Amino acid sequence: MPRPSACPGLLRIVPALDGGICRVKLAGGALGASQADAIADAIDAHASGVVDVTNRANLQLRGVKPGREDALIAALLAAGLGPQAHAHALADDVRNVMISPAAGRDAHALFDTAGLAAELLALLQGDARFAALSAKFALLLDGGERLMMLDHPHDIWFSALRHPAHDNVLVGFGLAGCPPVDARHAGALAAVAPEHIVPLTQALVHTFLDLAQPGHTRMRDVLATHAAESVLAQAARKTSVRLLRDAYVANWRREPADASRRLGAHAQRDATRLHLGGQPALGRMRSATLRGLANIVRNNEGATLRMTPWQGVLLTDIEPANVDATLHALAALGLATTTCDPLTRVIACAGSTGCAKSLADVKADAATLAPHVPGRTQVHLSGCARSCAAAHRAPYTLLAVGGERYDLYHTQDPRDPAGFGRPVARGLTIDEAATALNGSAPPSFDEPFDA
Ligand code: SF4
Repeated sequence: MPRPSACPGLLRIVPALDGGICRVKLAGGALGASQADAIADAIDAHASGVVDVTNRANLQLRGVKPGREDALIAALLAAGLGPQAHAHALADDVRNVMISPAAGRDAHALFDTAGLAAELLALLQGDARFAALSAKFALLLDGGERLMMLDHPHDIWFSALRHPAHDNVLVGFGLAGCPPVDARHAGALAAVAPEHIVPLTQALVHTFLDLAQPGHTRMRDVLATHAAESVLAQAARKTSVRLLRDAYVANWRREPADASRRLGAHAQRDATRLHLGGQPALGRMRSATLRGLANIVRNNEGATLRMTPWQGVLLTDIEPANVDATLHALAALGLATTTCDPLTRVIACAGSTGCAKSLADVKADAATLAPHVPGRTQVHLSGCARSCAAAHRAPYTLLAVGGERYDLYHTQDPRDPAGFGRPVARGLTIDEAATALNGSAPPSFDEPFDA
């Protein structure tokens, strides 16, 4: 039975304080120039003219006006932003495959994940049984890029690895977690050849659906009652894919990523072009910014535009001679292109202007706080404990508690299983929070916030 969902989607616009929310899922975060223009026109005509970049590198259109929902959806579908035409009715919900925004361009990648990601999306949309998956059920396909978000938990993760006994690149995988980067994390369950990822995924997702009880929406729910080994054994019976399981795979750790490469200019794999990153303030853009980004793409032959899970944008394939002009163009659109910009140190959810659950206007408070956040750290402001703006743990979290006050938490583990971390102070005003952040030596993560 298809599951009910309260999550916004392209075809399911859900109400919020500032109007309807429509979430547009982008394959690999990619947005064509004409699609950016189409969204800009659609949000001006049918919504508030504002769009947020999400931590899954998608777009969330806010303030959809009453009675305009069908027109907005039609405009988005006409721009090719929905599920594949042959897909099942609820396919839009399951289009959740995260790859690096620098896929195919990152000089450190072991392979280009874009093609496989497209195959995985086709699988998710094409199998009618997968309509029963939660709209949050998500896959990670990591090609080994330096620019890669590794700290968002995924229901199934795949990560490229080199095995000393194999000439070709393999892909390690695990359930309900993230690729391991240090001794705190378990290694991979097994490894497979890249061409076996699609049939393996099919087997794993069917096994998840076989085992999931009512109310089980994520792989972690199934793992609460079934050992990962048992899930893997059941999946293995559904496929002829050969699983490589040895001590190297079990103890393998991925090279750390470098989130600072989301900003500014960095050489690509082919060394003749660069990718350029920028971050809109608090992940929010207006229609004019979308049109400006589309123009940048058109002015740079071969360039592509991709959203990032850091709620920013990445332009690829920029010629060296055009780098300075393009960085200036991004800055003119209001995007930060260096971690020296204080707004790259704060993230915040919609807050009380857009969400009834929020206990503070966290977007406004984040803008106030940003200049006071010490360099080399990050602060996440959240209107409630649901943590919509961050799927990872920031070094510092300010959780709204009402009365324009916040509790301050700290952690040194971006995957902290204990939530936001250790409580540092209770009931702070935003000015007191600024003082508290500067009152002690501000710890920072090596990744992904060290920049
Ligand atoms: S974190 Fe809470 S307050 Fe913020 S947008 Fe999500 S549900 Fe609303």
